[in-house]
Amino acid sequence: MAANVTRSTTLRVPFVDLRAEHESIRDSLERAMSDVLERSQFILGEQLARFEQQFAEYVGTRYCIGVSSGTEALKLALEALGVGPGDEVILPTNTFAATALAACALGATPRLVDVCEETALLDVEQTLGAAGPRTKAIVPVHLFGRLVDCAPLLDCGVPLIEDAAQAHGARYLDQSAGAQGAAGCFSFYPTKNLGALGDGGAVVTSDPQLYERIRQLRNYGQQEKYVHETIGYNARLDEIQAAVLLVKLRLLDSRNEVRRRIAQFYDQNLRVATPPLVPGDVCHLYVIRVANRDALRERLAEMGVETGLHYPLPLHLQPCFAELGHARGSFPVAERLAEQSLSLPMYPGLSRDQQELVVELVNRWAEPL
Ligand SMILES: *Cc1c(COP(=O)(O)O)cnc(C)c1O
Repeated sequence: MAANVTRSTTLRVPFVDLRAEHESIRDSLERAMSDVLERSQFILGEQLARFEQQFAEYVGTRYCIGVSSGTEALKLALEALGVGPGDEVILPTNTFAATALAACALGATPRLVDVCEETALLDVEQTLGAAGPRTKAIVPVHLFGRLVDCAPLLDCGVPLIEDAAQAHGARYLDQSAGAQGAAGCFSFYPTKNLGALGDGGAVVTSDPQLYERIRQLRNYGQQEKYVHETIGYNARLDEIQAAVLLVKLRLLDSRNEVRRRIAQFYDQNLRVATPPLVPGDVCHLYVIRVANRDALRERLAEMGVETGLHYPLPLHLQPCFAELGHARGSFPVAERLAEQSLSLPMYPGLSRDQQELVVELVNRWAEPL
């Protein structure tokens, strides 16, 4: 016991550690960035073209369009589908707010649905039940790196725009995150499984019309220089980020494999409700469920172990969505998950010592459901 206490005062476990993540590839990253500086073409150049080609190939789509963030990816994909004021977009209430903000930015209304107790992913039956004449799109979210099986949604007549911001490389059999629906949207926010050194995102699609529209929308709506076909935006992925992403894309599968091994270690050693095994999972987040979430989180913090909450407040209870008119109790599964879920440290640089400390402290203080 004394030995453990000593160890935990010296060993700290951050929730994520990007410094460790980047230290091992520092030379490659510096070379990639300095090459861009050497060429001094910073916008819509060859790094972006190469990254788009390689990322499309990686996901298994015909096209990729690099954009400025995951939120913009979702917005441009929905806009290219024709989503606008008066339309509804179905999405889960248990997700990061950006999924819904993208629809709101276009004047559309998020139509929220609850999630499955077992997986925390969109409830497919509720989704099919919610689809009506105003529904223009469904946005399944591959939350925590878990692949939503989109097959049952593909025939419902409403196009799917996948939110794959947490699921780079998630694939199972013939399904791949981002390649199942009309378009897939990725974020390269630094802490995602594939992260830039700043903001970034991408839309992937195999539909040539969506591809052309999104390319225009991200670049001021230009068809050719100074000919503006539509009202567009400045929403591009820059050359430095594309060069960095090309370096990190090569490592993505091996980094995802390391995440899976850490998840296995947690699965085998934790004595609390661990995440379900979903085939193709890339373990973006490792989320346990306990009865004493807040107390456990506090005790872990005191011992130097940082944890996260994903997400403490479902979208239907967010102040900005009060207008949607959902009272507490409307989506009971998401509300339960919000109270009981705790995200443990999960990133490729997490050492075995750190993993053991997390397990030991969680097992010591967690109250099982
Ligand atoms: C990160 C994230 C986004 C937003 O991506 P940004 O690049 O931060 O704009 C959207 N949806 C989900 C599920 C995310 O995790």
